[in-house]
Amino acid sequence: MEVIVIGAGIGGILGALTMKSLGYDVFIFERGARIGGCATTFVKEGFRYNAGATTLPGLKPGFPMYRLLTLFRMQDKVKSTLLLEDLIVEVSFTPERSFCIFSDSERTCEEIARLFPGKGHKKFFAFIERTTKDILTTPVEYPLNGGRFSPWMVLKAVSKPQGLKLLPYLALIKKGALSLLSSFYDSVPSELLSYFRAQTMIVGQVELEKANALAFALSLGYFFTGISHCLRGVGGFLEALAREVPIRLNSQVERVKKKNRGYVVHIKDGKLYAQNVLLSIPILENLSMFSSNQDIVKHFSRFTPKLSPYSAFVVYGRMKRKALENFKAKHALIITDEHQNGWTSGYLYVSLLEQENPDFVTFTISTHTPLKLWNALNKDKIKEMKTLLESRIVDTLIKRYSLDPNDIVEVFSATPYTFKRYVNRFSLGGFTASTDTPIWSIPNNFTPFKGLYLTCDHAFAGQGFMGIALGCLNLYQGLKG
Ligand SMILES: Cc1cc2nc3c(=O)[nH]c(=O)nc-3n(C[C@H](O)[C@H](O)[C@H](O)COP(=O)(O)OP(=O)(O)OC[C@H]3O[C@@H](n4cnc5c(N)ncnc54)[C@H](O)[C@@H]3O)c2cc1C
Repeated sequence: MEVIVIGAGIGGILGALTMKSLGYDVFIFERGARIGGCATTFVKEGFRYNAGATTLPGLKPGFPMYRLLTLFRMQDKVKSTLLLEDLIVEVSFTPERSFCIFSDSERTCEEIARLFPGKGHKKFFAFIERTTKDILTTPVEYPLNGGRFSPWMVLKAVSKPQGLKLLPYLALIKKGALSLLSSFYDSVPSELLSYFRAQTMIVGQVELEKANALAFALSLGYFFTGISHCLRGVGGFLEALAREVPIRLNSQVERVKKKNRGYVVHIKDGKLYAQNVLLSIPILENLSMFSSNQDIVKHFSRFTPKLSPYSAFVVYGRMKRKALENFKAKHALIITDEHQNGWTSGYLYVSLLEQENPDFVTFTISTHTPLKLWNALNKDKIKEMKTLLESRIVDTLIKRYSLDPNDIVEVFSATPYTFKRYVNRFSLGGFTASTDTPIWSIPNNFTPFKGLYLTCDHAFAGQGFMGIALGCLNLYQGLKG
């Protein structure tokens, strides 16, 4: 076999298609009974629910997902599963106070100025949109090295003709988010600041005070990159892509061992030799699979301290379709002061999914939760906490959107342990994009070991469709030479 891909999440599927585009034969082993990992869409009693990821970004021409789909020649094949969104998310502070984010900065600014009259918005959001576009649409080739970025590599990459445009943005990596804000605003209204906090946490995985200015700008620019609604859930989109690659489900890789010029990949009922292995699992949580090759363990171990200390608490539900009338967009970002004694961030990201059955829609509400709190609980306490958080979060949804409680017909939830059981991960993944975690503190898509590559959210450029797509483009460029 030329390439074995381990894991069929976003990283595995996009990674396998990337290798296929380079002419390799690929084969995926997936531990679970379905594909998608954190971006699975599962079916319960005939209704589809997004398990984690709900939002597909980067689909405007030139942005990473658009570029990848073009590379895979898959634009037409996935077209029927996607619908580009214009009105993307309603940011809600109270039942009466909210604003909407559109697919461009201009209309978003008008909305923000309506709620927060004053100067600064236009210039600031134009900067955010321009920065996001420049960074995410400029193809940059990072030279191969021993599996790690370095300031030198980044400098070299941006000093090539096509990367020159990015040179001025390097300064943003060391600058703090708050310092960037102060160059546009004399003072930021407190509600608006709480939106900035929420968005930076959700996209950048980092608290605003610790965020670097680049991560902050990209977090706010996220909705300007071309967000698509996935009609059959994000899993439906991934399933359409996955038809192009052979996958064996229910096949957990237990061990990987270097042999000759390749790797022996062990699953429960056998083993397979491959010249190349693409790791598309949360690798930093699964280093024991390389116990026979301590050099590999050692290489990755140095990155683990920078992993996100958060996981997700997710509430799923089904409600009568008429409740949709109370929502302005398919996504809502509810900002509350209720942190449940530190168990949640207080930021609830709500996504609605329409169903084939026209009488109902399902929803997914996710929030950050600190891993260390869950690690300290026994089984009974986990159950207790799950029930408590679930009911409080649904209560907030009902109050914020003036819903009739009888319209919500089903509710259940997932803790970090649910994610561990289904997709073998605790940490949300990705890296906190803080001023002391610049890009060179995370693993590259290449490793110092011949034929061993990474496309997952534990590698460049971090989490979600956008980060993983950038990683795949980097891998493609590097292997193409
Ligand atoms: C609640 C939540 C909401 C999110 N929302 C968004 C969003 O809206 N948009 C967005 O872009 N991103 C979002 N993200 C982030 C995004 O979902 C993840 O970054 C991304 O799905 C990670 O993909 P991955 O392929 O790296 O890993 P995973 O999704 O973890 O996939 C890894 C796969 O490998 C399998 N596996 C693990 N171990 C083995 C093994 N030993 N052998 C074989 N298979 C194995 C797992 O079963 C899994 O299928 C969200 C994440 C969460 C948790």
